[in-house]
Amino acid sequence: MKTKAAPRKPAARKPSGSNGTSAPRKTRPGVGPHPTAHFFENGIPKGDKPIVYVNGQMVPKKEAMVSVYDHGLLYGDGVFEGIRIYKGRIFKCGQHMERLWRCAEMIRMTIPISRDDMVQVMRDCIEANNLTEGYIRLVVSRGYGTLGLDPRKCPVAGVICIADQIALYPPEAYERGMKIIVAKRPRTPIACLDPRLKSLNYLNNILAKVEAIDEGCDEAIMLNLDGYVGECTGDNIFIIRDGKVYTPPTEAGLLEGITRRFVIDLCKELEIPCTFKNMKPEEVQSADEVFLTGSAAEIIAVTQIGDIKIGSGVEGHVTKRLRTAFRKVVTSDHVPED
Ligand code: PMP
Repeated sequence: MKTKAAPRKPAARKPSGSNGTSAPRKTRPGVGPHPTAHFFENGIPKGDKPIVYVNGQMVPKKEAMVSVYDHGLLYGDGVFEGIRIYKGRIFKCGQHMERLWRCAEMIRMTIPISRDDMVQVMRDCIEANNLTEGYIRLVVSRGYGTLGLDPRKCPVAGVICIADQIALYPPEAYERGMKIIVAKRPRTPIACLDPRLKSLNYLNNILAKVEAIDEGCDEAIMLNLDGYVGECTGDNIFIIRDGKVYTPPTEAGLLEGITRRFVIDLCKELEIPCTFKNMKPEEVQSADEVFLTGSAAEIIAVTQIGDIKIGSGVEGHVTKRLRTAFRKVVTSDHVPED
């Protein structure tokens, strides 16, 4: 059975020319061939894979729909998680659940299923799509409501789980390192919207990412209003100086990344000193090594920030050591699910 599957669109949604006639079709503004038309069939994304969980139902991608009245869509009102699957296991599952529930509480939203059920949903999606390596996107939206902001008009939160593949940066970038910039746009201050809240509202990050793209890069460092480094648009940041590892504290304004936590613990295990430190961008630019962490990005070296080369311009040995140790864990038979 389909949930919330949209009714079939009328013929007018078909790209012109697809009706078998050569006569030009009259189209309404916004209707007709779209630059991404090849992704769609009758206005609906094509494809049976992946099988997606949407509000209690497992449906093929092309039937995975939410209402246009969903407040996640209308207002970015909701929370999400990005989680890695390694060897068929859910990496740091417990910590992701913890963060998801904490974030839902921060926006006073009740997740309509239990944590155990949420984990089962993820396992069902992994199984339905035959995945051993991949990425899970969990979305909990405020749900279907009215056109006003009032969250009380959304009686039940919506839950979506997509298990698919992700390739955030090109594979060469992991060997070569990447070039990033320092964004001019500051990170939303904690008092306005705490970056610890992994909400569906990512425009602050997206606009900084657009700055990076304009400079031919894939990532940007975001500063707080005092000019200290917080994090990147979708990753946390670490530096290495004289063999010691530093990363900004939560108070700098950042998402407490689960990969960040994992790397901090890894440093302890490898007896590499690691401390929190407020840093200005110049301090990052003059570091011996810089690397980023994230569920999608994993661990990746930064070899240039703006016009400034980091260290010798290649992945440094501490970054490599941590990246190798990380890979060893995620390719082992004991991928941690705690
Ligand atoms: N900061 C931001 C803004 C993020 O969106 C993310 C997740 N992509 C991270 C940091 C890294 O967090 P995690 O390691 O939990 O994926």
